[in-house]
Amino acid sequence: MNYMDEFRDRDVVLGYAAQIRKLSEQRPEPMAFMEVCGTHTMSIYQYGIRSLLPEGVRLISGPGCPVCVTPNRYIDRAIAISRLSDTIITTFGDMLRVPGSSSSLMEERARGADVRIVYSPLDAVAIARKNPCKRVVFLGVGFETTAPAIAASILAATGDGLANYLVLAAHKTIPLPMELLSSDPELKIDGYICPAHVSAIIGANAFRGLAEQRGVPCVVTGFEPADVMQGVEMLVRQVVEGKSRVENQYSRVVTWEGNCKAQSVLAQVFSVCDAEWRGIGVIPGSGLEIAADYAAYDAEKVLPVSVEETREHQGCRCGDILRGKVSPFDCPLFDRACTPESPVGACMVSSEGTCAAAYKYGR
Ligand code: SF4
Repeated sequence: MNYMDEFRDRDVVLGYAAQIRKLSEQRPEPMAFMEVCGTHTMSIYQYGIRSLLPEGVRLISGPGCPVCVTPNRYIDRAIAISRLSDTIITTFGDMLRVPGSSSSLMEERARGADVRIVYSPLDAVAIARKNPCKRVVFLGVGFETTAPAIAASILAATGDGLANYLVLAAHKTIPLPMELLSSDPELKIDGYICPAHVSAIIGANAFRGLAEQRGVPCVVTGFEPADVMQGVEMLVRQVVEGKSRVENQYSRVVTWEGNCKAQSVLAQVFSVCDAEWRGIGVIPGSGLEIAADYAAYDAEKVLPVSVEETREHQGCRCGDILRGKVSPFDCPLFDRACTPESPVGACMVSSEGTCAAAYKYGR
């Protein structure tokens, strides 16, 4: 089976659209479902999924882009570290352009800082091996999907006895903000399109508390248009039937238990901590910090730097967008002062950011 064409089949997608329309007629009140994965956000804009849904079924983009939810305070700290002598910052490309309070890593690089894009944390370990007289700091940003690879890089550095490899960790875990947002009376979320990549690691069982105790239907959903439409159909069906459970639409990739090996690496290298989310604030227990046994690799502990006072960008509504309160089109800067070439806020930087997706596909 070709996993592209079948899941992009027009007739299959329109078939789900018809089923959703029919089901939604059984419920007079409108329904709202949130996605908390940047790849879903992109897919929804790219394939025009909203235009296929009836008026009473609304999709809301939530805090799904890891670069976007990383607060300015973290960017400012990375910038302060990049200004230290004999220091190489290594990062995935998106972080380079995220504006901090008064600068960005891109600007710091233009001023002479050694900031390098890598495609894997193990590339950063290799740079540390080649540069024993410098410290190499990897910017550890992301959800449960990227955290295992970063944990593995710390284990690789430990195995090699590398003392010059460090991680500035800001990993976040997704189920707790989902719980928090589900109790926001203004949002009135009727169900979640659960993230696919994250679920491949943590397993579909991770959403049982949300569905079974808090009464919020959850469907782990793939990324192709037929996946998303089927995921929405399954959510609408649960709401109409008055059910609340976890379903796994993406069973060709996601299991109920998840990836036990990745979970065990995470548990070895990281400890649970409170984490600050852009626009949401601090959510207790929603982050991963480097565990005490690996503290020698923790850039925040090893490199005390003075970090400037955090400032948000005037007029930018990233915080409201990440909480699902507004859409990019409600931001007065969208497609005016703020574009992917000249982003004002984080949500316009990453291709998975809601503003970037709306700019590319939704205008
Ligand atoms: S359009 Fe730009 S300024 Fe407006 S919320 Fe999005 S990222 Fe922020």
